[in-house]
Amino acid sequence: MAWPDRGDIQIKGLSASYQGKEDVKVLDGISLDIEAGEKIGICGRTGSGKSSLILTILGLLDPSPGTITVDGLTLASLPRETIRTRFIAITQDQFVLPGTVRQNIDPFNNCSTSGIVDALRLVCLWDTIEHNGGLDAPFEEDILSHGQKQLFFLARAVLRKTVGRVVLLDEATSSVDQKTEEIVKRVVETQFRQHTVISIAHRLDTIVDFDRVIVMEKGCIVEVGKPTQL
Ligand code: ATP
Ligand code: MG
Repeated sequence: MAWPDRGDIQIKGLSASYQGKEDVKVLDGISLDIEAGEKIGICGRTGSGKSSLILTILGLLDPSPGTITVDGLTLASLPRETIRTRFIAITQDQFVLPGTVRQNIDPFNNCSTSGIVDALRLVCLWDTIEHNGGLDAPFEEDILSHGQKQLFFLARAVLRKTVGRVVLLDEATSSVDQKTEEIVKRVVETQFRQHTVISIAHRLDTIVDFDRVIVMEKGCIVEVGKPTQL
């Protein structure tokens, strides 16, 4: 496996702002060492900077100042394209593109039909997709609920699990019901056992089995601990 083949992450003195709003630090002096294979949950109120942290790790927000190092490589030294293709991520604003179900789950045509079906079965979506015309039918957004859409993107992430060792999950706020959440939890546990996982959670249930939870507030980390300690 090419970089990142372990998935240890060091974040040092990381601050970040959105373009055109350089006077507002949405991340403010974040430092965190994450071991390869660790499962980290991120909690915090709306606007506390959780998604911004994920976006900065993905190279979509510029760290200024600060550094993020993954398996010994500083992200700032890598092309954005490398980061995008080697990290496995579900961002908060994921959307469906015009086209078929297959094109949406496997845009670069890397996967076999049986692989795609297996991934969709894993997230309990295959019956719904099959019922609506299968992989080569147009992807009609309204056949899936918000929660199911989340699961669809999770299936896409599972199909990409061999590209690297870093998984970043930013689940949509209101759209996750209990059943969806249980599926996400089971899939993360079984499919990303070896991966480093950073997952933003809106409920403590999702991350009770994680190694550590960090709590963010106003762009800072205000607490780090085992899920049971918080
Ligand atoms: P939520 O739980 O609602 O998803 P969050 O913890 O993910 O919240 P962020 O989205 O990281 O919070 O937002 C952190 C800060 O950055 C907020 O003050 C927000 O207003 C600001 N922000 C977010 N996106 C942008 C953007 N595209 N342009 C400018 N500011 C932004
Ligand atoms: Mg967010």
